Amino acid sequence: MVALAAGPKKPEALLAYGARIIGDDARTRVVIDFDRQPSFSVHYIANPERIVVDLPATAFGFHAKDLAARGLFKDIRYGTMDEGSARIVLSAVKPVKLATAKVQADEDGRGYRLVLDAEMTGKEEFAALVKAQSWSDPADRPQSGPIPAPQAAQPGDFIIAVDAGHGGIDTGAIGVDTKTEEKQVTLAFAKALADRLNREHGIKAFLTRSEDEFLSLAERVQIARQNHAGLFISLHADTLKQKDIRGATVYTISDRASDKLAADLAERENLSDQIAGKETAAEPPEVADILLDLTRRETQAFSISLAESVLGSFKDQISTINNPHRHAGFQVLRAPDVPSILLELGFLSNAEDEKLLLDEKWRVKIAELLTDAVKRYRSSVVANGG
Ligand code: ZN
Repeated sequence: MVALAAGPKKPEALLAYGARIIGDDARTRVVIDFDRQPSFSVHYIANPERIVVDLPATAFGFHAKDLAARGLFKDIRYGTMDEGSARIVLSAVKPVKLATAKVQADEDGRGYRLVLDAEMTGKEEFAALVKAQSWSDPADRPQSGPIPAPQAAQPGDFIIAVDAGHGGIDTGAIGVDTKTEEKQVTLAFAKALADRLNREHGIKAFLTRSEDEFLSLAERVQIARQNHAGLFISLHADTLKQKDIRGATVYTISDRASDKLAADLAERENLSDQIAGKETAAEPPEVADILLDLTRRETQAFSISLAESVLGSFKDQISTINNPHRHAGFQVLRAPDVPSILLELGFLSNAEDEKLLLDEKWRVKIAELLTDAVKRYRSSVVANGG
């Protein structure tokens, strides 16, 4: 067993050390205590109605229950967006507006308070608020910093994008026993898998994220494509209402879900951008492009072949759920030209799975089996002139 501790806190980050929320579904006040004066900006997003508060890098040190949603808010998330920024996303039960949004110095001069007074408003007023603001979402940054390119890839290397699901403000699922956050489990597995793959000659693996930061689903796909990845493997460890279900599942993309469990899971995974206070991207219009269609179909076949190779490796080694290869409309698997799978390593809703997910030996075993699967997949592709 290992502790999946968060990385060291950057010294320059603000500390939000306290929080309170009071009020009812007409007026709700949120107060957050900071060690230093925070700069902040507020924005409104529709569909669904949300208030987004952007902050500089901030460590959130208060207890989650101190800012549990109530009154006008049904969900409150906060966390890192990237190295230099953090965000609070307040999802409202009905149209809201902020009557007050200000930073005050504490009377005792020890710190600062961010005070947000929300009150209910009309649908049209809310729409006017959304329209009046000129806002380009800082989270839609054009790839900030260098793209995490694979180390010293040689021409002919087989490049693999290893994607740690969730991150930053999007914690993903929370474990039943240890309250482990999915985003930490996925990052630990992603690192182990990339390290193991990189020990293979001719394979270069890289991580879409190597820190606890938020990446939109589209960014994950884009990073894989920009790095000319030949494979994309997204790692997850979600929760289910049915706590007795355990074991691994491999997902590939399809317009129609294979079953209800897969459909529900894809729907929840696709909420990631919404949780992080991003506007819901309009579905790109389907372009009738025969070449793209052919590429998609070919990619789909490769994705299925990888999924089968992974399940072949897991056989008699790793427990899987019934019908372990399923499919649904996961946004993160949408690259038309990069064979992609989403691997649910196990479920944080199951106590036994949770134990395994925190076990370093099990992690190493999975990395080993996945590496075998990738090698077998690769040789079959090469054999077929892919
Ligand atoms: Zn997940």
